Amino acid sequence: MSTKEILEKQHLEKEDIKHLLSTTGREMEMLLHKALEVKLNRLDNYVHLRGLIEFSNICRKSCLYCGVRSKNSKVERYTLTEEEVIECARLAHQLGYGSVAIQSGERNDPAFVEQITRLVRRIKEIDHGSLGITLSLGEQSDETYRQWFEAGAHRYLLRIEASNEELYYKIHPHDEQHDFHRRLACIDSLLNIGYQTGTGVMVGLPFQTLDNLADDLLFFRHKDVAMVGMGPYIPHPDTPLYQYADQIPSVKERMELTLKMIAILRLMMPEINMVAATANQTIDPLGREKAIAAGANVIMPNLTPNQYREDYLIYPDKACVSDKPEECYTCLDIRMKAIGHQILYNAWGDSVAFTKKKK
Ligand code: SAH
Repeated sequence: MSTKEILEKQHLEKEDIKHLLSTTGREMEMLLHKALEVKLNRLDNYVHLRGLIEFSNICRKSCLYCGVRSKNSKVERYTLTEEEVIECARLAHQLGYGSVAIQSGERNDPAFVEQITRLVRRIKEIDHGSLGITLSLGEQSDETYRQWFEAGAHRYLLRIEASNEELYYKIHPHDEQHDFHRRLACIDSLLNIGYQTGTGVMVGLPFQTLDNLADDLLFFRHKDVAMVGMGPYIPHPDTPLYQYADQIPSVKERMELTLKMIAILRLMMPEINMVAATANQTIDPLGREKAIAAGANVIMPNLTPNQYREDYLIYPDKACVSDKPEECYTCLDIRMKAIGHQILYNAWGDSVAFTKKKK
């Protein structure tokens, strides 16, 4: 079957996905263009913002790719104060961002759990609950997820990182702390509780094949998630996985592969929310625009106070680390208009797929 014929299909099978993942040049352009068309038809040209608050880089895990892994002793550890978080949230509200996303290294101790509950409640108090709240705080117990949901968080991001168990254990230590099946169970628990649940993977990992990537996309569809985040893997020199940095696809290839993943998923799940990850912009100055033009519809501008940002380097040379939030605001608005999109201010920007399913 030709690329053109595959792009007309209603339901993509694994072989179709693999074909689309291997397109280049004009055929790849056809795919990206089709995904944009589908997005504009189903979701219009809106881009939703989530003000990102990187709450803490203290982490109990040691993921082999991540710069803030607990075993990286070069990192200075920090946790924002509650007042700092609330200030960030107020700023998000003032800038019209509509939602905040709190992300952090993974901690499970009761003090942490309680602190997040308090923060969620306090953010909900800003202008009578006008801010949407996304959490991205790793693996937690069902009870903790429930407690945060009841406090007012309504979206949760937990990337599976690799939906293939074998690959998962090539990029994580194989021990008690890093358990593929527990991560899967966490995603199920989030879906059950009623969160708008997001997952995702890194693209261009060492050992990752096109077959793996096709399975990742099928996994998202099978789980029927509301949101997906996919970005290029960026080797961090202070991590064990860095030793394979010469075995991964080039920057250009990783960017293209990410765009194809986004575009194919837009065809498979036309109404989910998909983020144009900051990692895209880190490897390509126009990476976020390209991701939006390939079917993504969410951007997460960083609101973390500038003095902490250098310590939340999950990967090196992260984009926008020195930008002030106000600069980011204007910059994004202009960048989105330049590609024919508009930011929808003062709205939660929920996943349309999720909202329809709930009805
Ligand atoms: N502790 C939270 C948040 C992790 S950071 C959790 O476990 O969900 C958010 C995402 O950054 C991760 O899910 C991972 O996919 C991505 N990430 C981490 N290191 C990266 C790297 N070196 N290159 C690209 N993305 C990376």
